[in-house]
Amino acid sequence: MLLEIEGLASHYGRIQALDGVNLAIGEGELVALVGANGAGKTTLLRCVSGVQPVSAGRILFDGADITRASSHRRVALGISQVPEGRQMFGPLSVEDNLRLGAFRRKGPNIADDLERMYVRFPILKEKRHLPAGTLSGGQQQMLAICRALMSHPRLLLLDEPSMGLAPLLVSEIFDTIKLLKEQKTTLFLVEQNAHAALGVADRGYVLETGAMVLTDTGPALLTNDRVREAYLGI
Ligand code: ATP
Repeated sequence: MLLEIEGLASHYGRIQALDGVNLAIGEGELVALVGANGAGKTTLLRCVSGVQPVSAGRILFDGADITRASSHRRVALGISQVPEGRQMFGPLSVEDNLRLGAFRRKGPNIADDLERMYVRFPILKEKRHLPAGTLSGGQQQMLAICRALMSHPRLLLLDEPSMGLAPLLVSEIFDTIKLLKEQKTTLFLVEQNAHAALGVADRGYVLETGAMVLTDTGPALLTNDRVREAYLGI
């Protein structure tokens, strides 16, 4: 397993946000985490990226214990988070935003990476000289994902990529995620849109008030009665 989370607990002061959480993600897998508002999804992701303290349990990345590692160290190890919302540098061009994603790397292969990104996402090529702030919400989210990919992550963390987007743009973002999956990018996807997330995921986990209550393959969870009732409105 590339990422292993064992018995994880996390608190905000006296409030316990996570309790005894277990989760694993294999290399090349797309794993979705679904759950209601306030279930602790964002907290779990923040524990993985290293910006939220862990009060019990441990996190292993490629076999090494990173429970207490700084977030910088985790980035260096290849854990890259695409932030919730669209935290692009609005006045900078699309291309400069992409280059920023590769700031830790050097050399001519950055140009190759850009070209590869443009082949995958032609709209970004078309708009590469425009300020990122002029892109649509969906395109900015796509840019945020591509910027993270420029760092060649081993694990990409996606926090609610569909949040606040119109339905058409949501399907655009999930097309992007499918493409990443086909290319064997290891993905940890946190989503309130359970239907779309479980529809693309190899495996999924369901978090309720800080505890993991269910895990199975994406397709199996989509047909699970409890999931259908609580998260799919069926
Ligand atoms: P959402 O989809 O709304 O982001 P979530 O599943 O990501 O929800 P979290 O944001 O991880 O849930 O929150 C989990 C719990 O921790 C909730 O009860 C929330 O109220 C609490 N919480 C989150 N952030 C803080 C904070 N900064 N201070 C205190 N409590 C917090």
